[in-house]
Amino acid sequence: MTVQPNSIEARDAAYQLHSYTNARKMEAEGSLIIEQGDGVYVTDNTGKKYIEGMSGLWSVAVGFGEDRLVKAATEQMAKLPYYHTFAQRGHTPAVELSEKLIQMAPVPMSKVYFTNSGSEANDTVVKLLWYRSNALGKPEKKKIISRIKGYHGITVASGSLTGLPYNHMSFDLPIPQVLHAGCPHYGGFAQDGESEADFVARLARELDEMIQAEGPDTIAAFIGEPVMGAGGVIVPPEGYWKAIQDVLKKYDILLVADEVICGFGRTGKMFGSETMGIEPDIMVMSKQLSSSYIPFSAVMMNDRVYQPIADETNRIGTFGHGFTGSGHPVGAAVSLENLKIIEERDLVGNVARLSPLFLERLNALAGHDLAKEARGIGLIGALELKQQGDAAGTAGAAMSAACLERGLIVRNLGDTVALCPPMIINEDQVKEMFDIYAAALDSLSF
Ligand code: PMP
Repeated sequence: MTVQPNSIEARDAAYQLHSYTNARKMEAEGSLIIEQGDGVYVTDNTGKKYIEGMSGLWSVAVGFGEDRLVKAATEQMAKLPYYHTFAQRGHTPAVELSEKLIQMAPVPMSKVYFTNSGSEANDTVVKLLWYRSNALGKPEKKKIISRIKGYHGITVASGSLTGLPYNHMSFDLPIPQVLHAGCPHYGGFAQDGESEADFVARLARELDEMIQAEGPDTIAAFIGEPVMGAGGVIVPPEGYWKAIQDVLKKYDILLVADEVICGFGRTGKMFGSETMGIEPDIMVMSKQLSSSYIPFSAVMMNDRVYQPIADETNRIGTFGHGFTGSGHPVGAAVSLENLKIIEERDLVGNVARLSPLFLERLNALAGHDLAKEARGIGLIGALELKQQGDAAGTAGAAMSAACLERGLIVRNLGDTVALCPPMIINEDQVKEMFDIYAAALDSLSF
């Protein structure tokens, strides 16, 4: 790719610093400019059409160009484009959405707090946990255990929770209150001859030892994605979440489920917590909540979390936290309509119905010469490719480029190449997606 002077690609490189991008490479090569979307497809500025095999960033559940969301946004814009939720003020869309989310929760929940991104939501979680510990007269109970390869965002606190090197390198992260426990990727971290059951038992034992070494009274919470997404689509082995929860219960440590990717159907049930048998005290939601038509996110908490916090706001006089956009009426209206679409069209059922085909096609590629492992659940999956020599990520980048050339957008996370299509996808489109994916894989040579 070379950049034509004054083209949109050249202007993009001239004026923007892009996320997860090598800025120097982008200055030389430009970017891919997407103009339009319709269903599971997007079109670039040259008119080339792609299957959006990643739903954008794991997020456009109902697909692109959904008129009902456009209408919900337009109507709300016309009626009340903005209001806030500070100082005992409210508006109907945020009330209705909080009520709806509490009703949908897979375990009893008490309150919803609205934010604008997954990172903001997780940053808020850290602050809620610290505030709560102070409220309980336990100022030393501040550490949070996350996991190697977990992804929870990129702000100072949420970026610390994230357990991936690029999110720490040169940013002076993580902050000292965050610890990282082992990653539940059996194929990646099992010791020689270790069975899955032994692997799970070891992870639970190591967590127990970490808690003992740090002092159980210093740990506020454990946070995890039911199924890890950006860390490379890692589905934990059978029994993992039960073993982890047993340890947390023993030490009275809260559990936070980061449902930012798993939430609203991705794993074949409404929440990843249901699929994985997790009983969280806090749930974090974004992405498929609004199908990312508008930035929106939420933190849901149970009474164990809410009640001491409410007492503390009363003692201090106010809850000194809030974003201008918390519970934005347009975001709330779009999210409500999005949840209606997910329910009315039974998109969670669609994920469950198509998952066997999706996993069969994915697993069929595990035997390919270049493949190391296939992983997936529901309609989220990835193929990990064998590393080429010392250059980690080369195979993944080549696969991503080969897919793009053939009209499929995937996401390469190192040498792992992920798929997470819109939940409205149909059987023919799943086949079309894997035909391209398989052809791209076959085309690679190193
Ligand atoms: N948590 C999880 C599980 C995520 O996948 C992401 C985003 N990929 C985030 C948090 C952060 O969300 P955002 O990019 O909206 O800040």
